[in-house]
Amino acid sequence: MDVARLNLSHEDHATARKTFELIRSVDDTIPILFDLQGPKIRIGELREPVNLKRGSAFIITVDDIIGDEHRVSISHKELPQDVKPGDTIAINDGIVKLKVKGVQGSEVVTEVTHGGPISSRKGVNIPGIKLSCGIPTEQDLHDLDLASELEPDLVALSFVTEPAEVKRVREILTANGPADASIIAKIEHMLAVKNFDAIIRECEGVMIARGDLGIEVPIEEVPILQRELIRKANLWARPAIVATHMLESMTHERMPTRAEVSDVAHAILDRADAVMLSGETAVGHDPPGAVAMMNRIIKRVEETIPPGNPIEITSPRKMIVEIIGNLVYNAVCLIPDKVDGIITATRSGFTARWISKFRPPVHIFAVTADIRVMRRSRLLWGVHPVHYEQDIDNVDDLVKATVQVVYERGLISRDKDIVFTSGTRHIRGRTNVVALFHVRDLVE
Ligand code: PGA
Ligand code: MN
Repeated sequence: MDVARLNLSHEDHATARKTFELIRSVDDTIPILFDLQGPKIRIGELREPVNLKRGSAFIITVDDIIGDEHRVSISHKELPQDVKPGDTIAINDGIVKLKVKGVQGSEVVTEVTHGGPISSRKGVNIPGIKLSCGIPTEQDLHDLDLASELEPDLVALSFVTEPAEVKRVREILTANGPADASIIAKIEHMLAVKNFDAIIRECEGVMIARGDLGIEVPIEEVPILQRELIRKANLWARPAIVATHMLESMTHERMPTRAEVSDVAHAILDRADAVMLSGETAVGHDPPGAVAMMNRIIKRVEETIPPGNPIEITSPRKMIVEIIGNLVYNAVCLIPDKVDGIITATRSGFTARWISKFRPPVHIFAVTADIRVMRRSRLLWGVHPVHYEQDIDNVDDLVKATVQVVYERGLISRDKDIVFTSGTRHIRGRTNVVALFHVRDLVE
């Protein structure tokens, strides 16, 4: 695995801290993603699981009650203000659907349009509705306090609807830390799809969060959106994570279904940077087995993608770093048999991201003195981060030192060439040098 996600919807701070410290103690090169719950709504307690019948009346109340087949409480206390007659309320992954008939004080009166089972604390979605609580929620702020203490490498925001929400979380991270955390916007709301082009510019990556997305939009739209959003994320050099139900049946079974294997493979063919497991590893009976299976599928399908499979398009901004990424990519493609890797000396991982966008046919070795940059870069497609303990800021010494360290780790051969890229001043966003070297000319 390359990244560990801590889903704060399901963990209190004591548990999250324990898991966090466990991961760091086992392998401190694994980046940890803090996944903030966002405005996820849940129903309250039910005396016992009930089966709602189509056509019957059902009341959702903001009062604290123990629910039954007639009524249930809800965590979102502004629900009566946020919905209007005709809106749909989905419970339990969209299995049960209710149509809002009217609002009476603290109660939302509905009719069951799709019957089915519900039980305590099941998730609720109200497709297309923007909730009044906003992002970050009270709970998110509380979880961001924990983030400032533990310093995860990445922070994911659930149910993002507009770029301002990402900016607000960025401000908090900048003020309280960790200021350098990459922000991943989870695309799981209709408005996130609508505002995608603006949201993508504010974050460092996106997650195609198919679990909630498949309730917020018609389910048959999900594969189309997956392909389309990954393409746009690639365009802006933002890594895309495809999530949920990837190997779902492995939560209980030893083998995945053919359809699941195919789904993972197609996410790779769609050019996802990462594929994610949830229940399979969180509560499944064989987490290592699920990870190993995912790896097998990824490795095999990647063999079939021809090397030099360019994303032809450059983004409309055409920043220098993107032109450099394109040059690096093209240099490798001219002499693919001679080049053993791309070496980028990086302080922030920014350059590695813009080279990765072009999907070059050799490894991108992102050499950095910052262990946090090293960890974050693991999310990027094709990037093999290398950590070293040096602080150099002139290009000549940088070339020698970075090639040497990659060579010493046995990652490139003496008889091959490398493409090197860095900034002359070596600060974020100023990558402006591309050079080709024979490895043997630089290593001792
Ligand atoms: P979740 O997000 O697992 O936090 O709900 C992923 C998804 O909705 O697919
Ligand atoms: Mn979700």
